[in-house]
Amino acid sequence: MSTTTTVMPKLTPPKIADQRMLIGGKWVAAASGKTFETHNPATGEVICRVAEGDKEDVDRAVKAARAALDGPWGRMNASGRGRLLNKLADAVEQHRDELAALETLDNGKPIADSLAADLPLTIQCYRYYAGWADKNHGQTIPIDGNYFCYTRHEPVGVVGQIIPWNFPLLMQAWKWGPALACGNAVVLKPAEQTPLTALRVAQLAQEAGFPDGVINVVPGYGPTAGAALSGHPDVDKIAFTGETSTGKVVMKAAADSNLKRVSLELGGKSPNVVFADADLDAAVEGAYFGLFFNQGQCCVAGSRLYAEEKVYDEFVAKMTAKAKARRVGDPFDPLTEQGPQVSQEQMERILGYIDTGNREGAKRLSGGGRVGDRGFFVEPTVFADVKDDMAIAREEIFGPVMSILKFKDADEVIARGNRTFYGLAAAVWTRDVKKAIRLSSALKAGTVWVNCYDVFDAAAPFGGFKMSGIGRELGQYALQLYTEVKTVIMAT
Ligand code: ADP
Repeated sequence: MSTTTTVMPKLTPPKIADQRMLIGGKWVAAASGKTFETHNPATGEVICRVAEGDKEDVDRAVKAARAALDGPWGRMNASGRGRLLNKLADAVEQHRDELAALETLDNGKPIADSLAADLPLTIQCYRYYAGWADKNHGQTIPIDGNYFCYTRHEPVGVVGQIIPWNFPLLMQAWKWGPALACGNAVVLKPAEQTPLTALRVAQLAQEAGFPDGVINVVPGYGPTAGAALSGHPDVDKIAFTGETSTGKVVMKAAADSNLKRVSLELGGKSPNVVFADADLDAAVEGAYFGLFFNQGQCCVAGSRLYAEEKVYDEFVAKMTAKAKARRVGDPFDPLTEQGPQVSQEQMERILGYIDTGNREGAKRLSGGGRVGDRGFFVEPTVFADVKDDMAIAREEIFGPVMSILKFKDADEVIARGNRTFYGLAAAVWTRDVKKAIRLSSALKAGTVWVNCYDVFDAAAPFGGFKMSGIGRELGQYALQLYTEVKTVIMAT
């Protein structure tokens, strides 16, 4: 994600009360009365308890969403929906510091990143889709005979949305922006690790004036609340972001219940190709950002770094020096570059991959261990001399671990780059325009960056080839995910 320069206010970890869930405009406890803890990953301490949704809560939320569609929301002018989304964007902007601190507390990402990347991108996304609300129109079609034929773009209906913990605010915006612009009603299940900003933004949306039931948030675990949502017979569409293996479970549940529409944004193992003719310092900088940003917890992380033979040693040396110098620590320190991983489970999983890399014979040049014994911090780790068949070159690690591989020429790196069941993103660093065009055409990925990495914009579509997903979020394309096309043919 590209970052912008901001004046940094001094922010501290906020105190947070226990949280309820939002169903039909009311803040309620779970039907079961159950709650779960959400943790500060920098310390492992409990932040607060959150209502734990399950089947009965999802059911109530779906009923509330259906009632909203049959009520004032369904009758609202499209421009009215746009005005509400703009008000939500304003509210998020006005609460920028508060939301950034809450995101950093619950997720562990450095406050500098929350302020410079997550918040501006979230606000941009709501504003962008506010603009689309009254522009998602159909066509008039000159069919044969005496008929007037036109299409209507209608909302899909009740939309279930399941989001992950790596960019909680932003993933919520990617889901809510287009869904609400198109007139759907939503039931969101945030990740169990990071439910807090979703609940706060829901409150802001309520204050902005969204009618009751248009927006429902049911926190809880995947196999309970998430499964209830994806298998619900009265949910018209499910949008999911998370692991590929979970995406398969969601799609099965969708098929087995009511064949609801499905869109998926899943994992990746993105090749990042550095040619010898590239601006090497820019490539090192971009590759470093493209892997280590957000503690390496990005579905698009450039985790297979292919460096051309001629510059391989120089690239490896420069990358290792940068990884060693990375500032890891308190995410509320404005100078911190890397905070903790989101949970103990994720930290252990990453350390397990580092062990595997060591055992498989990759050359570890930096990091390799945990930082301290409090919180879930992992050292920025660089492996060189990685081979394509090693687990660290094939599987998504979702942590600050870079695998560097050597290649000889374009043909070879295209073939090796595509040898994966993922297809989320790829990048190429070169000064040769022909090579840039050739690789960006040949690499099978939903996004290809050339001489840059992690550049995101609400207007630019994003999604995966192959097992990295189905559908495109962001941009005009995302409207398709939340629109049913109705054809009307009238005899004249
Ligand atoms: P991660 O490893 O990043 O947590 P997951 O795919 O497990 O990735 O989680 C992403 C989201 O999917 C979370 O909100 C999680 O609760 C939810 N989830 C996990 N399992 C299921 C499931 N069986 N059905 C529906 N949602 C699920």
